[in-house]
Amino acid sequence: MNKHKCPNCGAPSVTVWQKLWLGALKKMKCKDCGTFITVPWFRSLLVLGFGTITPWVGGALALSLVPKPAGAVTFIASFSFGFILCTLLFLWFYNWYVPLVVKHA
Ligand SMILES: [Zn+2]
Repeated sequence: MNKHKCPNCGAPSVTVWQKLWLGALKKMKCKDCGTFITVPWFRSLLVLGFGTITPWVGGALALSLVPKPAGAVTFIASFSFGFILCTLLFLWFYNWYVPLVVKHA
């Protein structure tokens, strides 16, 4: 798994999962330099706002692609597929779009 670089010292000290958990109010300490790292709250909230909608849109889109009539299992399977796919896409986007910054006090 790729690691994100510390915005202060450049050491690869933040894992992808840690970054996803870094909300506006949370922070973490770099193991190398001791600087507190966080994400910009506005971007983070903006993207997370999209993130709550994206999987549902993905699920609905996948459903619309299912040939009708379809059984319940097909419906659930295609919705889950779209839901999970869009969740993964979103996580990737979040990691790419939201930068890590040094938290000042
Ligand atoms: Zn550091």
